[in-house]
Amino acid sequence: MIKKRISKSQYTRGLQCVKSLWLYNYRKDLMPEVSPGQQAIFDTGHEVGDLARKYYKGGRLIAQDHNEIAGALAETQRLIADGVEILYEATFQAKDILVRCDIIKKVGKAWHLIEVKSSTAVKEEHLPDIAIQKYVMEAAGLKVSKAFLMTIDNTFVKKGPIDPHKFFKLDDLTEVIEDAEAAITCNLKTFFAALSKNAEPKVEIGGCCSSPYSCDFTGYCWKDIPAYSVYNLPYLKEEIKHQLRKRGILKLKDVPADLALSSKAEDMVWVAKNRKPIIKKEEIKDFLNTLEYPLYHVDFETINPAIPLYDGLRPYQQMPFQVSMHVQAAPGRAVKHFEYLADATKDPRTDIINFLLENIGPKGTPLAYNASFEKMVIKGLADFSAKNRKDLEKLVARFIDLAAPFRARAVFLPEFEGSYSIKAVLPALIPDMSYDGMPVANGEDAQNAYKALLSGTLTPAETEALRKDLIAYCRQDTLAMVKVLGHLNNLA
Ligand code: SF4
Repeated sequence: MIKKRISKSQYTRGLQCVKSLWLYNYRKDLMPEVSPGQQAIFDTGHEVGDLARKYYKGGRLIAQDHNEIAGALAETQRLIADGVEILYEATFQAKDILVRCDIIKKVGKAWHLIEVKSSTAVKEEHLPDIAIQKYVMEAAGLKVSKAFLMTIDNTFVKKGPIDPHKFFKLDDLTEVIEDAEAAITCNLKTFFAALSKNAEPKVEIGGCCSSPYSCDFTGYCWKDIPAYSVYNLPYLKEEIKHQLRKRGILKLKDVPADLALSSKAEDMVWVAKNRKPIIKKEEIKDFLNTLEYPLYHVDFETINPAIPLYDGLRPYQQMPFQVSMHVQAAPGRAVKHFEYLADATKDPRTDIINFLLENIGPKGTPLAYNASFEKMVIKGLADFSAKNRKDLEKLVARFIDLAAPFRARAVFLPEFEGSYSIKAVLPALIPDMSYDGMPVANGEDAQNAYKALLSGTLTPAETEALRKDLIAYCRQDTLAMVKVLGHLNNLA
């Protein structure tokens, strides 16, 4: 079993974990299917990559894909020999490494290498990614005088058609990657040695499984670790978690009493051992006393594309497209539901502002679960609308966070499994209310559904069905808040 060639992405995979590199080459069957979330990240990468090419206009694309590597290598050489000075997806192979470079540009007799990322800052993990490309280009006989990273400028605000020169920023990392370049020979030796063996390398599970990227093989390597285990304990050193695992201690109920824990971890262990909830009535009452009727339970669904859709938006800014609101005028009164869902053919922000200002009266408490998110979204709307800025800012100041008593562990059930998210709290407190089986069952599903509506490719029937699913999901979120608050009232 001798592996002949690795790609740039395999090189960076090996840096994260050599076992992951081995499994990728010999046990691809263990990889899960690409999730909608991962697909959305890939799609963003492609959109940003396409825009980056407009920064360096007039280049030639090496169009052959990963199934036609020989053709891509030959086409790259042919275009370079023909004197083409800007290439997209230029492909090189040397020393058993294959790289495809986002953009290369000839400057004098040498080349500039430009790696494009859809992030908004240079990260440590970008350095070996660029270093290996420079290494292979040079090994293939090209002189690389500069290596740049192109990232998104998060201070950019859309105003009219997007100018790539304002949207992107370039960092010259030629010197910064020197250490990463120096480490390449040694890293490759390790990788090829591992790949020449029949047995997978032995690597301890731990932080490398999620950083810098979530590993594709966690389902395999973590199969013996329960979904809720000592690994969920916050502020506990990884080393200690491993020691517990080696002693056969995985469940929280088995954690030794003398282990030093943070206060949250202590509570998690206490409820797991005693199978009893923590209920702090006085704290719940204090929270309830901050609320003033009418109560407005508010929830937004948003999208945050890298490339802003409308003027006034920044890259990755959360833009609401849907809002659900349950209103209770007085204690014991029936709740009324209000909703808005954009039709995806126009900028929905003005409609959403009007919806909020018309339906939330001057008195009472607007509530959101994890209200910092809703507040951030409304602040974004305030920046957009000079006319309504003051009213929206006042509204932000009135919001109260329904998650606060759960975050503070005034109510803490074993079933929460350490989480205070509404998805953990709701089924534990209100078992007959769940998101199971809903076609749109979480925020990511909602984003994907709205992107599908935005694409304009759906039939009227598909559009109708998707809109119904979105409305059902967002309504469930605010109805859940009503029920959770009712439960708090009962407890108090
Ligand atoms: S899950 Fe962790 S140990 Fe397993 S291959 Fe991935 S990074 Fe390595």
